[in-house]
Order: sequence, then structure tokens, then C-alpha cells
Amino acid sequence: MSKLDMPVAMPSKTGTVAKDYVTSLMARVRAQNPTEAEFHQAVEEVVDSLSLVLDRHPEYRAARILERVVEPERVVMFRVPWMDDRGEIHVNRGFRIEMNSAIGPYKGGLRFHPSVTLGILKFLAFEQVFKNSLTTLPMGGGKGGSDFDPKGKSDNEVMRFCQSFMTELWRHIGPDTDVPAGDIGVGGREIGFLFGQYKRLANEFTGVLTGKGIHWGGSLIRPEATGYGCVYFAAEMLKTRKQTLEGKVCLVSGSGNVSQYTVEKLLDLGARPVTLSDSDGMIHDPAGIDREKLAWVMELKNARRGRIKEYADKFKGAKYLALNPTLDHNALWDIKADCAFPSATQNEINSRDAANLIKNGVGLVSEGANMPTMLEGVKTFLDAGILYGPAKAANAGGVATSGLEMAQNSMRLSWTRDEVDDRLHKIMIAIHRNCSETAERYGTPGNLVNGANIAGFLKVADAMMDQGLV
Ligand code: NDP
Repeated sequence: MSKLDMPVAMPSKTGTVAKDYVTSLMARVRAQNPTEAEFHQAVEEVVDSLSLVLDRHPEYRAARILERVVEPERVVMFRVPWMDDRGEIHVNRGFRIEMNSAIGPYKGGLRFHPSVTLGILKFLAFEQVFKNSLTTLPMGGGKGGSDFDPKGKSDNEVMRFCQSFMTELWRHIGPDTDVPAGDIGVGGREIGFLFGQYKRLANEFTGVLTGKGIHWGGSLIRPEATGYGCVYFAAEMLKTRKQTLEGKVCLVSGSGNVSQYTVEKLLDLGARPVTLSDSDGMIHDPAGIDREKLAWVMELKNARRGRIKEYADKFKGAKYLALNPTLDHNALWDIKADCAFPSATQNEINSRDAANLIKNGVGLVSEGANMPTMLEGVKTFLDAGILYGPAKAANAGGVATSGLEMAQNSMRLSWTRDEVDDRLHKIMIAIHRNCSETAERYGTPGNLVNGANIAGFLKVADAMMDQGLV
């Protein structure tokens, strides 16, 4: 019998088969999606936590909620032809994964990066379902993007690509159906081009995308939200140990949207961020990345679109280290520090990196990037008992503020900066409380991985039960 034909174990009367059920579910997921390693990883992390729930709720197993949750409601995949400035034609692949709409319209970012595949977007869409559920706002989960690389392209090339991408995507999305946003490689510039083309094709001005410009439907604080939220979450974790971020030395990876505003909020709260990186290498500035240096980085990355290496040429005392892919670890995670904020991309912390962080005295990891830590690394953090904020909780501030942008669009009004920031802060406090209390309720106090997975799942599962077999 092939793995695909294997029935998933059903609950026993005593409810003790949850582990077997999860094992056979994972075997099926791997067999059905053989090339999607990141998707397997994301599902495994969630269903491991859920074995705690399944023993108490056999009705979810009977209704095959998990089997349904791992299957996207819809996948759209399309050709994106575009012409470069020299008149040469290129063809990229576009995707939108509409994963789960049980609690609201599909919601999740678009990623433009050469590493984008169906499996990467499915892992991101899967994570998004539970993250959106945690925000307390009515949003389902989705994700999309393309293997297009905006790096090194002119503004006109990026515009032509975005217009071609939206020429297919527009028929699948809508303000009450599916509301994409930005992610890696998709910032304010790309959202502008995508929105312009949607508006032209649909002949309507609606809140179909979030992360819009402030004068045409965007929300104040949306650009800052993921980084700010991740730091608010870290502050909540520290509070449980009667500590604050004041004076803490912090490692931050990446140098894009999430990293920049993580550094900004760390400075607001008196911490000392000392690293940044991009896909070529990292800088270490022991004196600290202060506001002036951060403003320079923002200009470098958002306007000049340069490389982080230039930081070490500009600021005395800072060192640049090129990424060495032959090493089994990343030098950025091997620096003495108090806290770490991985904010670049998935799987940037392996088990060796996790061990290095612990060895160097890091007592808190708050994940700005999606799934930045490999499963063995997560285990290392949990075993060490450090404060560990998993991505779907710690970086939920971005999508939460997208939800606030949708609310403002629906009401056709704009809240002030302080009002949005205050709501974001309260949402992050509520997410932390929900994850902590859920972890405790299911017998694993302090384990925010279990707390986030279970709390995120329960709301979606109950909505699916209410809505019948769809
Ligand atoms: P940006 O494109 O603004 O920045 C990404 C940064 O990460 C860049 O510095 C980039 O370097 C680096 N990076 C990307 N891929 C790699 C790689 N394979 N290896 C090393 N470095 C890499 O993206 P965001 O800041 O928006 O996103 C960062 C992370 O945060 C992602 O995991 C994203 O999914 C997650 N996230 C983002 C949200 C948002 O609101 N933007 C919301 C929630 C999560 P380079 O320029 O060299 O490519």
C-alpha cells in the first residue's frame, strides 16, 4: 500500500493515539508533497504541538480538521511575462496560495525572491493561517509571490513586472476575498505598482492590498509594524522575568523592512542593537547602531538599494564579514549578546547557531522572520529554557496592522500614528498573554511554541467545525 492510500489512524476510545495519528498524518503530508521540505517543517512543528489538543478533542480528528488544514483551499499558479529595459523578454512564475478562509478573507504577503517555490509559499501560507488567528482580527491565511528577483532591476522593470503579475492575479483577489500585502522583495514601491494595475483592471478603488502609501489608503505604522511588534513581544516575554530591554545587547539579522524597524524600536526602549546583514554578509558594530546610523542604513537599503558591506566603510569600529556558505554556522549568531532578533529569512538558525546563541549568553529570541529557526534549533531553545517567541506570535504585528489598515479602508477614515501604535501594542500584549495562558492550560508552561500553535489552531478549527464540510 502506498503512503498516499494509508488511512490516517483514527482516535481510540481512550484518546491515546494522538501521537500515532500525528505521525501518520506527517507521513501522508510528506508523501503527497514530496519536494516541499519547508512545508513539511512548518506542518511538523504545528502538529507536534497539536497532539496535546487532539487527545482532549477527538471531534477534530473525526472531522478530519488537520487533513483539511494542510490542504490549501485553492492554489493559483501562472505565467508572468515581462520585458526588460533592453527589450528582452523574461518569463517568471507567479503564485497565490489561498490556504484557509474559515475566519476571514485570505490574507498574507507576496514575496518576490529567486528562491520562491510552491513549497516555500505553502509553508508561509500555512503559518499565516495560525498567525492571523492569533491577531484577534478576522483574517484567513494566504501567501503568494514569484521567483522574480527585484535586485538589480530598474524601477521601470519592476513596474512592468508588477503590472504583468497583477494582470493575472487581479481576478482572484478582492477586498472581501483575498487581500495580499508585502513580504521579502515587496515593499512600498511594489505595492504601489500592483495597486495601480489592480485599480485600472477592476475599475475600482478598494482596500485590495495592504501596505499602501499613506496618501492612498495606507495606514500609519504599517511599515513599522512587524519590527515594532516583534520588540513589543520581546518586552512582554522579558516582563515575565522582571526584566526590560534597557541596556541589552541585541543581534539583528537582515537589513530590510523588519530589521530596520526592529532596530528603531530597540533604540526607543534603550537596547543596543549591534548587527545587521544581507544575503552577502553581516556587519558587527560593537558601539551600537544608533539613530543616525540607522537613518543611513534606511537610505542605503530603501533608496540607493545598496549592500550592507558599505556600512563598515562608512562607520569606524564596525566590521564586515562576508557570508561563508561552506561553514556549518552563521557568524552573526556567534557574538556575545543578550537577545537575538532573526529578521531575514527562513532557516537562518540551525542547531549549531542555536547552541552558539545559548553559549554566548543569549536569553531571548524573538522571531521577526518567518520560521527562521530549524526544528532542532527550536528544541535547543526550549530545552535551554530561554525566552523564545516563535514567529507566528512574535511577528504577527505586521499582519495585525494590515488588519487595522483594512478596518480603516472599510470605514473610509484614517487613525493617527499614536492610535495605530497603541492598538498594535495592545494586540502584541494580548497575543503574548493568549500564548502563555494556552501553553499553561495544556501542561507546558512557558512553551510559547505550543501556546501559539494551539491557540491559533483552536479558533480556526472551531470555525471549520461550525461551517460544515467545505
Ligand atoms: P525585505 O525584503 O525588506 O528584507 C529581507 C532581508 O533579508 C534583506 O536584508 C535580505 O538581504 C535578507 N535576506 C533575504 N533572503 C535572504 C537569504 N536567503 N539569505 C540571507 N539574507 C536574506 O523583507 P522583510 O523585512 O519584509 O522580511 C524579512 C522576514 O520577515 C521574512 O521572513 C518575511 O517573511 C518576514 N515577515 C515580514 C513581514 C512584513 O511585514 N514585511 C511580516 C511578517 C514576517 P538581500 O537584500 O541581500 O536579499
